[in-house]
Amino acid sequence: PASGETRPLQSMTPNITPAVPSELSPPAPGERVNATFVTLARNSDLWEIARSIRQVEDRFNRNYNYDWVFLNDKPFDDQFKKITSSLVSGKTHYGEIPTEHWSFPPWIDQKKAEAVREDMRRRRIIYGDSISYRHMCRFESGFFFRHPLMQQFEYYWRVEPSVELFCDVHYDPFRFMKDNKKKYSFVLSLYEYVETIPTLWDSVKKFIKAHPEHISPDNSMSFLSDDGGETYNKCHFWSNFEIGNLDWLRSQAYQDFFESLDKDGGFFYERWGDAPVHSIAAALLLRKEEIHFFNDIAYYHVPFTHCPTGEDLRLKLRCHCNPQDNFDWKGYSCTSRYFDLNKIAKPEGWMDQV
Ligand code: GDP
Ligand code: MN
Repeated sequence: PASGETRPLQSMTPNITPAVPSELSPPAPGERVNATFVTLARNSDLWEIARSIRQVEDRFNRNYNYDWVFLNDKPFDDQFKKITSSLVSGKTHYGEIPTEHWSFPPWIDQKKAEAVREDMRRRRIIYGDSISYRHMCRFESGFFFRHPLMQQFEYYWRVEPSVELFCDVHYDPFRFMKDNKKKYSFVLSLYEYVETIPTLWDSVKKFIKAHPEHISPDNSMSFLSDDGGETYNKCHFWSNFEIGNLDWLRSQAYQDFFESLDKDGGFFYERWGDAPVHSIAAALLLRKEEIHFFNDIAYYHVPFTHCPTGEDLRLKLRCHCNPQDNFDWKGYSCTSRYFDLNKIAKPEGWMDQV
């Protein structure tokens, strides 16, 4: 497609012309944005990530051929590389995570962290007893965008194993982000389990005090707090789907934010997730117009679905999700708050789903 143009919507009649293999019609240089897909995965995630890749390719990337970066705390095996590189239409890159980005930092008291895991195991808090899950959350919070393979890129789209895309993506979301100066985006939002983040907001308030210069004058605090910042309402964007700007994550403001939280130890003394960490950063450090909701990217990650309201849109995009499954306007979603604070109209048909 020409730069900045959206692709024409597919006609509703079946297209009987065979598709031109994407190898024969890659986008001309300059049309694509400097962007990549990125996946953190284990070798054992192969068949689950294969399903995700197939859907991303069928619904979008076969027409664009963006690169895909795979990161792992262990070396990827040949089988993983063979299968994933056969599925991705763009170039694939495989990287190992440096030990410093996947281990306990020296200021963490190991005994205290172990006692926390044991306590969370007894209280049956999800992933509460897991060391690797904590390394994963800390890596996604503070390090994936600094990996050498990511340095060359300006935008990323995070893809996890076993996710689904239900509609055609009929334009380039990376191009949309760049042309509209968006820095962060989401499709699902919800409330975090309080047991995993009891002191996260205290840490955030400490950061706000220490670095008032990083707080955007036009922030989205009202997405996070119902009392002007005194307490956290637990709302966060679900980070297993993200399209975002890597230069923002590599900025001084985000670095200072992550370092401040990391020093407080909550990735290990509690079980802080990268979703609330990214979300709080986006809501406080960015201007509110820099955060985008992709209504037209229909998505599933267990157990929640984003399926666009509005039948016209679903038919045009050849969606296969059940609109009754849409989570956006249900009680446990925070997406209404995003619409209210940005004073934007909710998508067609949302009332039918309340
Ligand atoms: P959930 O979505 O919170 O239930 O967590 P997931 O199990 O989906 O993990 C989140 C992401 O991190 C996925 O992309 C996983 O493949 C990846 N991941 C989780 N744990 C590990 C790990 O120990 N090593 C590696 N390399 N990737 C991991
Ligand atoms: Mn997941």
